[in-house]
Amino acid sequence: MAVRDVHVLGSPVLRQRAEEVSGVDDALRTLIDDMFDTMAAFSGVGLAANQVGIARRVAVVNAEGQTITMINPRIVEADGRDVKEEGCLSIPEVYGEVTRPERVVLEALDEDGAPYRLDAGGLVARAIQHEIDHLDGILFIDHLSPMKRQLLVSRWKKEHKGEALTRTPTPEETEEDE
Ligand SMILES: [Zn+2]
Repeated sequence: MAVRDVHVLGSPVLRQRAEEVSGVDDALRTLIDDMFDTMAAFSGVGLAANQVGIARRVAVVNAEGQTITMINPRIVEADGRDVKEEGCLSIPEVYGEVTRPERVVLEALDEDGAPYRLDAGGLVARAIQHEIDHLDGILFIDHLSPMKRQLLVSRWKKEHKGEALTRTPTPEETEEDE
């Protein structure tokens, strides 16, 4: 078990497009185990590899009693429309309403490298989309209006000026962050 530091807004890796995984090996499975440990330590509902400083297309979700490992994930179908407040472990204390498809069909590889397909709705669908965004260097604040985003980011930068670009778990994490 290893909890890794989580990169926060300002860390360049969060804006990097993560690379496809070419083969699932023990090193990758260790990363996935650590990501589950890290997500649990921060009480998150999802975590992408970028957030622990590794730009590879791997993400995990733990929402509504469902745990999901996604390697090279792709959304192959999306429908509906849902507006909900989101947060992100990489942008602590910042929340905003994000509009996303309500239901998605995911295709990915599991931790054994086997392909699977998953039909998801609700919070699971939202977390999947949020994490895949991370792998493309996209943060949830990018879905807000430019004015709202600018306001949140400038306030956040002011409050966190001079702080480290990574964070370790603290006890007051909420359960809504991804
Ligand atoms: Zn996030």
